[in-house]
Amino acid sequence: MRSFSLIAALAVVVATPVQAQLCDGRRAPSAADGRMLGHLPYGDAAPDALVAVPAGLAVNGCLLRREVVPDLQRLIEAAARDPAAGGQILALSCHRSIAYQEAVFCREGQADAAQRALSVAPPGHSEHATGFALDVAFRPRRNDCPDAEACVAATPAFRWLVKNAARYGFEMSFPAGNRQRVKWEPWHWRWVGTRATAPGAARARALFATARARFPAVPAVPADPVVVRGVVPPPVYMGPMAPPECRKGKCKVARATRR
Ligand SMILES: [Zn+2]
Repeated sequence: MRSFSLIAALAVVVATPVQAQLCDGRRAPSAADGRMLGHLPYGDAAPDALVAVPAGLAVNGCLLRREVVPDLQRLIEAAARDPAAGGQILALSCHRSIAYQEAVFCREGQADAAQRALSVAPPGHSEHATGFALDVAFRPRRNDCPDAEACVAATPAFRWLVKNAARYGFEMSFPAGNRQRVKWEPWHWRWVGTRATAPGAARARALFATARARFPAVPAVPADPVVVRGVVPPPVYMGPMAPPECRKGKCKVARATRR
């Protein structure tokens, strides 16, 4: 238990130094736990920690931490082989630099930042920056539902993923009705490894310790009785913020960029 507490404390310390601000340049109010508009703080992955997701596994090119890719490949290939999946799962949006996240956050139509934050994390507060999280696409897609979430949930591929993701080390960060006040995102999954001793898993688990303890994923990778001692969470790479025009939604920032 002591080791877990140490890991959680380290994760908070490492995740804190972000420069997030709203699109008008003001700093958004942060809660005592570091959350901004409901989202926990996360720094940017170091460029040399990221690798390209192989062609054929992603809709477009994207980057993830190198430890994530083997499990993602196994998952995508297993879904493709299993008739129960009824189609394909592909990586859609992977690592996003803090600068790119700012561009995404600020281009949304809603004027109110709190409304915007229901579905898009403020810069410096997105799991995507860590390189351990991604949005997936489900094929064939459905377009005949009342909203995007319902259409995703109606696909056999999504149901397959809910049933099988944990076997590949993935869990759904923002389940329906979560107490974090973040909109249900059935396409958003983070990697924590199938077991604590898997390469990179202890670091991912240290990084997401607060989220996993307070706002559990559903489905989640089951708790692991193994405690890995002496874990050093990934170093935070503080990339540059987006240019000022991004705050008005008028800029282009490369989606999958090493910056
Ligand atoms: Zn996402």
